[in-house]
Amino acid sequence: MVCFCFLVDQRWKLTGTKPVAGTCSRCGGGASVGDMKTITRFCYVPFYWKSWKAIICTFCGAILKSYR
Ligand SMILES: [Zn+2]
Repeated sequence: MVCFCFLVDQRWKLTGTKPVAGTCSRCGGGASVGDMKTITRFCYVPFYWKSWKAIICTFCGAILKSYR
């Protein structure tokens, strides 16, 4: 019996934030510069990840702007 696993998932994680001037366009909450990390996993084994920065809302979690 052959079993193929095509389970790929991608998740991002916030590794740190710094408050920044600005408000969220969705909820009006405070914005922060966040250090983000995107991890791509294949069969639950991480095989690719990258770090990036984004301006996020601390209240609703919306990504307002991203720097790649
Ligand atoms: Zn918001």
